[in-house]
Amino acid sequence: MTPNVQAARDALAHLEIDENPAALKSKSRDFFWYSPVLKTRLDHLVGDFVVAPKTEAEVIEVLKTCYAHDVPVTTRGAGTGNYGQAMPLAGGCILHMKNMTAVKEVQPGRVIVEPGCLLKDVDAATKAHSGQELRMFSSTWATATIGGFVAGGSGGVGSVTWGSLRDLGNIIRLRVVTMEAEPRILEFRGEELARVSHAYGTNGIITELEMPLAPAYDWTGLFVAFDTFETAATYAEEIANQDGILVKLVTVFENPIPQAYFQRVKPYIGEGQHMVGLMVAPHSMDGFNTFTARRTGAQIIYRSDNDTWEKGPGAVFEYGWNHTTLRALKVDPSITYLQVRYGYPDHQAKVAAIRKALGAEGEVLQHLEVLRENGKVMFAGLSLVKFTTEERLNEIVKIHEDLGCMIFNPHRYTLEEGGRQTVDDRQLNFKREADPKGLLNPGKMIAWDDPGFKFESVYQYPRMRAAE
Ligand code: FAD
Repeated sequence: MTPNVQAARDALAHLEIDENPAALKSKSRDFFWYSPVLKTRLDHLVGDFVVAPKTEAEVIEVLKTCYAHDVPVTTRGAGTGNYGQAMPLAGGCILHMKNMTAVKEVQPGRVIVEPGCLLKDVDAATKAHSGQELRMFSSTWATATIGGFVAGGSGGVGSVTWGSLRDLGNIIRLRVVTMEAEPRILEFRGEELARVSHAYGTNGIITELEMPLAPAYDWTGLFVAFDTFETAATYAEEIANQDGILVKLVTVFENPIPQAYFQRVKPYIGEGQHMVGLMVAPHSMDGFNTFTARRTGAQIIYRSDNDTWEKGPGAVFEYGWNHTTLRALKVDPSITYLQVRYGYPDHQAKVAAIRKALGAEGEVLQHLEVLRENGKVMFAGLSLVKFTTEERLNEIVKIHEDLGCMIFNPHRYTLEEGGRQTVDDRQLNFKREADPKGLLNPGKMIAWDDPGFKFESVYQYPRMRAAE
């Protein structure tokens, strides 16, 4: 199948097309550079043209035309993904969703929205309409889209109360367009959602989402300092377990993360201290203060409703999730990260084992996000790692796995390696139906290209566009 890019591009000339080389280059990248490994593999990639549809009918026209000319299509929300998800491994068409931003309907507890709407704009509309907000959002709330969050994200700010996107009820309905000779429009609910949520746009383009909402609050952001890591991690778990205290974020930062990478925090925290970042609902602040006062060693060093700092830190959630890595990278470019599952009930013991095995020289620093899974509080680790070589990084991954800590490897660009190292048959089977030529985001689903792949080596997509 040889793509006829020029024919496809000419047939779509009446739509919003961009092929300015600088724009094309920037629209072909995401935050893959968090990983020095992905940087070596993906840095050269660029698509052939960008098309930004304004309506679902235009999405269908793009998919139908690219199907007819065998042109790959990689969908883009805002390009804030971290694993090269929105990067066109085989070139072709970049389907940019930036023009599909309508908030179509707001009801009690739910919103219907187009995929290109920024997370912050969804919240602005639902808050203005009826004092509601998204249950959860990625910490790239200000720049990322709701479609990209569902297709490429996992959870984030709010997951301490609501769990992850993959948990039942956290996505209500998805409307999807297929890439066939005659593209079809399908609506998914319940069990079907897993076909396309967190599928990197490899088997269908989301053109409408129905998402649950929660009451909106003017959340109080806080930093609390502790002299030992253990008291910080225990406090984080236990405040998340307080049924009467409503939180939206609980994040643990091991020393010296705040001192080394959070410039505005540094003047207000002790040299050897560890820190917990939180977002607490205003009506829960009395409960929070009472709980915290009972904890010896818990020192509130910042609260956004009484900001006495010379230079305020900004939103506390922009210190958590993958903003922690971003802030560290800006200070020390040798920093990268891992995504670790510290599952209930032995999450604390596993963190302690990893700190014992890898924490001594500061090679791996603990950054824990508290979240719920099946009603139980546990940790998602977004550990900071001082990168030296790919071999050492692989050794660090193996040490985690040998200690029973699953790694969602952010140094791989495929769904399977970035996930649970298994094939998701629901996504593969739907790809067979919805994308029979395999033109949607090619190279990101190993099982499509190489069903017999064993996860002993790093997958290399054979038809990846070569560096010029
Ligand atoms: P993109 O990066 O543009 O796309 C992501 C994936 O979705 C790609 O595979 C793309 O092809 C696909 N896609 C996009 N739109 C559609 C569509 N309409 N239909 C089908 N497929 C589509 N992620 C989290 O989950 N939680 C976090 O807290 C978080 N924090 C982050 C912090 C920082 C500083 C950074 C850089 C990243 C963070 N991320 C986080 C990753 C990323 O920001 C989020 O997942 C974000 O929501 C992705 O949205 P986007 O619009 O940028 O998607």
